[in-house]
Amino acid sequence: MIIVMKPNAKRESIQNITGIIEGKGLTAHISNGKEVTVIGVVGDKSKLQDQNLEIAEDVDKIVPVTESYKLANKKFHPEPSVIKVGNVSIGGDELIVMSGPCAVESRAQLIETAHAVKKAGAHILRGGAYKPRTSPYAFQGLEEEGIKFMKEAREETGLPVVCEVTSLAAIEAAVKYVDMLQIGARNMQNFYLLKEAGKTGLPVLLKRGLSATIDEWLNASEYIIAEGNPNVVLCERGIRTFETATRNTLDISAVPVIKNKSHLPIIVDPSHASGVRMYVKPLAMSAVAVGADGLMIETHPNPAIALSDGPQSLTFQELLELCSKIRPLAALMGKKF
Ligand code: PEP
Ligand code: MN
Repeated sequence: MIIVMKPNAKRESIQNITGIIEGKGLTAHISNGKEVTVIGVVGDKSKLQDQNLEIAEDVDKIVPVTESYKLANKKFHPEPSVIKVGNVSIGGDELIVMSGPCAVESRAQLIETAHAVKKAGAHILRGGAYKPRTSPYAFQGLEEEGIKFMKEAREETGLPVVCEVTSLAAIEAAVKYVDMLQIGARNMQNFYLLKEAGKTGLPVLLKRGLSATIDEWLNASEYIIAEGNPNVVLCERGIRTFETATRNTLDISAVPVIKNKSHLPIIVDPSHASGVRMYVKPLAMSAVAVGADGLMIETHPNPAIALSDGPQSLTFQELLELCSKIRPLAALMGKKF
């Protein structure tokens, strides 16, 4: 349930309400909007039945939240959240592009790519050091050595860096080197990992599970936020369907649906959604046109010899072309790029 305070409610009135909530052993999450303060109650709300909160001072109304996710819910936080990753803001008035190799393969490959994506206009460098591969015999990533290279790339280019984590050990290593943790599609419902990522306080890029509904995805985000970490960015990366022409099917409707249900920013990854280089640019354009807050695009100095996801990786020139194609669309959608 959500308690909406009257505009300009007094601080003491807000404290009074949170005191009542906490006194019953429940948790109060405060969202300070431009106009009103909203207090989200998490826990067994029947414990508040005898409290008559609707007539307490400065309370405007009580809104029941029927969805199982509360803190990720737009009812709790009516204004869009803007998530800071280093000096970059996701969910504000700028379209954010994250780009880089699927896998960090060497220091030279990563640094070269970092400079190229920066030149193309990207804001954040991506790179996988812990690779969740379908085959156990495929390249599994450079692990801690790889994330050290990510940190070096940030130092060289000033780009914040995001890296996928697949275990607690990976989280413990990554917090020393990266600006944002990525939870991949295969781990979207690894609730233990979500909670551990939440505890770090670092921004988390939460990719949609391969067969996850939007509801399940938002519940996964709730696991992170419930740890006291509201810094979650969602990433639509395609879902499993009967279609085989593309690696996955980009669920473009996820963008407006998420915008309707949640305050969290959402970006789109047309690389994993399509699995095919030639489809990445048109899908990226559709994502911008539908109102996504950003894009994640895989790039490689030479995709033909990439150790992971070469067929969907763009060359540096192709990334430049993609960025120039989306620029006018971003402007049309009221986003700077
Ligand atoms: C990735 O971004 O490198 C990745 C493995 O993506 P996903 O989890 O969406 O498959
Ligand atoms: Mn990949």
